[in-house]
Amino acid sequence: MFAKVIVDIAHSEVDRVFEYVVPEGMRVDIGFRVHVPFGRGGILREGYVIALSQTPEYSGDNIKSIHGVLSDIAALTPEQIKLAGIMRRYYHTTLAAALRLMFPAEMRGGRVGDKLSHELVFSLSDAQYENAIQTMTTAKGQPKAPKQMEVLKTLKAYGKLKAETLDELVPGSASARDALIKKGLIEKRTVETLRNPRKSADLQADYNLTEDQRNAADTILSKTGKYLLHGVTGSGKTEVYIHIVRDFLKRGKSAIVLVPEISLTPQLVEMFERRIGQEIALYHSTLTAGERYDEWKRMATGRAKVVIGARSAVFAPLKDVGVIIIDEEHESSYKSDMHPKYTAHEVARMRANIEGSTLVLASATPSVESYIKAKNGIYTLVKMPNRLFGLKLPDVEIVDMRDEVVKGNKTLFSAALHEAISEALSERKQVMLFINRRGYSTFVMCRGCGYVEYCDSCEVTMTYHSSRGKLMCHYCGRTRPLKDICPECGKPYLKHYGVGTQQVEEQTKVHFPGARVLRMDLDTTRGKNAHQAIYEQFKSGAADILIGTQMIAKGLDFERVSLVGVVAADNSLYIPDYRSPEKTFELLEQVAGRAGRKDPGKVIVQTYSPEHYAIEYARKHDFEGFFTEEMGVRRAALLPPYSVFFRFVFAGKNEDAVKQACLDFAQGFKNEFSDVFDKLLLFDFGEAPVKKIQGQTRWQVLIKVLNDAELAQFRKRLYIYTDTKRYKNCAYGMEINPLSMI
Ligand code: ADP
Ligand code: ZN
Repeated sequence: MFAKVIVDIAHSEVDRVFEYVVPEGMRVDIGFRVHVPFGRGGILREGYVIALSQTPEYSGDNIKSIHGVLSDIAALTPEQIKLAGIMRRYYHTTLAAALRLMFPAEMRGGRVGDKLSHELVFSLSDAQYENAIQTMTTAKGQPKAPKQMEVLKTLKAYGKLKAETLDELVPGSASARDALIKKGLIEKRTVETLRNPRKSADLQADYNLTEDQRNAADTILSKTGKYLLHGVTGSGKTEVYIHIVRDFLKRGKSAIVLVPEISLTPQLVEMFERRIGQEIALYHSTLTAGERYDEWKRMATGRAKVVIGARSAVFAPLKDVGVIIIDEEHESSYKSDMHPKYTAHEVARMRANIEGSTLVLASATPSVESYIKAKNGIYTLVKMPNRLFGLKLPDVEIVDMRDEVVKGNKTLFSAALHEAISEALSERKQVMLFINRRGYSTFVMCRGCGYVEYCDSCEVTMTYHSSRGKLMCHYCGRTRPLKDICPECGKPYLKHYGVGTQQVEEQTKVHFPGARVLRMDLDTTRGKNAHQAIYEQFKSGAADILIGTQMIAKGLDFERVSLVGVVAADNSLYIPDYRSPEKTFELLEQVAGRAGRKDPGKVIVQTYSPEHYAIEYARKHDFEGFFTEEMGVRRAALLPPYSVFFRFVFAGKNEDAVKQACLDFAQGFKNEFSDVFDKLLLFDFGEAPVKKIQGQTRWQVLIKVLNDAELAQFRKRLYIYTDTKRYKNCAYGMEINPLSMI
């Protein structure tokens, strides 16, 4: 027997199949992780068996043998191996790098494994026991070995005990225990214990689905396909997921449910656990390595059939995947920030195609990219337009902050917001204050008139770089000096802008001294269960005001919140990203979704740009309207989905090597693609907007092409071109439609 093995080195030079002999008597199957001798010195490396055959494909006499098997269960399913093959080309990565995504990183190098413990068992008959006691007792009736006697009696009383428990009951009993084992009086067994990361919940009966919910579930279950579920906040989407998952389980299938970040969706997890119970695995980054391994193993061995997890759960080792659900599909956390920079949607689509699964993307505010696919019939659109129990979406009031400046109000709170907070507090209701802050980008805005500095050609804001003292467009590299007089109104109010959560917290405490204030942002949620703790504190009514970043915008369901305030909508409106109107609409709609989930609620949005279409449509809760206008803007500026950005970032400690690699790549590209070069919408190369990160110099090549019938061909050529490019002392990677252009 011969095995085709991918050696676990993510380097393009060894990105191919190597063949090994399977030694007589070794049990090896597809998906097994193995040790193989590799390279000239025959050093042992880890590898993955991706195929087996009776005859070798590559003749050659010096074909080596597999050295050993790393575990007796397959680490990869055949479907996962196929998926990795597709990802390799799509994301310009190596097969090894793609395969590594499919199981916990710590399994490589054996840094995590089964948690084994020992159990001691009493299995003597009464007669045997009497006999043992006699031989262990002196003629005078004293025990010969008191510790051994005590251990034996204790174990008889309990039947069996874990080694640690026995140690607690009879301290210092280790050697007595071993002596008894030697004599054959007690037995030692090895058992596998699971590091179960959650408590078991009481199972709860299902709700009766509403008509909207039933229609949605029935449509999605009627035939295998790809669906976009557009359901407003509070329409009860989670119930629909549960219904669908349950149906697939009944058919003997498994299910993958992706959520943006598990700590932010405690309610969804709770709801699933209450209904479906022990078959659920949780899979995300805040698990310990051991917990993650155990969850992985429960899935790989078929003990768990449903996984709820962050984007990496799309690689779950489940077999027969019937359905993949992506909740809050618009969230940017579905895009990986490490190479290969995959997007969970794309991978889910590839996996659904391989496994014949149904795909469900769901959101109250679908991404422009997904919605256009629904419009074009690539996804089937399913709508849930109504909130449960006849509740209305809350009223949204827009406050023009330019008026506040004129009135001399320099605080973060407009008169309207101040009054609404006071009122909510006096009625003993809860308030959520929301600030969106992303990255360390700052844009420049006039506080007098709301004028914002944009790039002349890119439909994105210019970013202020204090190190260069200049404004810069991250999309085309153009720079401009920073002025302080506004070209629009002539007043000296042109400043870089950005409001943070701490600032809001400080001012809230000053303005509302009696209120109990909680803050939820990156700083206050570093600990493992920090989210959960803040969430529960607020839910229990231990605080009046919750201040937070986008973290608090989604998924949470607090009945007593009557007012949501968006302190600075401009924070998200002018981030240097063509998606900023979309992100703003999304955020406003999602935060509004937190208000009035029981009684009617109210939303106040503060902004210097009340006339911006994203804000205007969010005020009316008009997704269709927003989508139509946004598509107009994207079409006019030829932005995605009408085009695609490919960004290559070159990075390394050696400045010359990085620069040289980038220049070589760019020059080679120009030669190689001379026939289509003038059809490119953008070709730019040079230093990256942020020149250095963690001591690494960064250069970039940015390419923008039209999303048309020739795109697939271009992609193929690009893959072939980059596949042969290798640089010393410089790493580089590709990203498609990057989330951040720093
Ligand atoms: P969405 O995700 O669409 O914003 P959720 O799924 O969070 O909405 O549902 C909101 C609340 O309504 C949840 O607490 C849920 O348990 C409850 N709920 C959902 N469907 C029903 C139903 N058919 N009957 C009663 N309560 C329901
Ligand atoms: Zn530009």
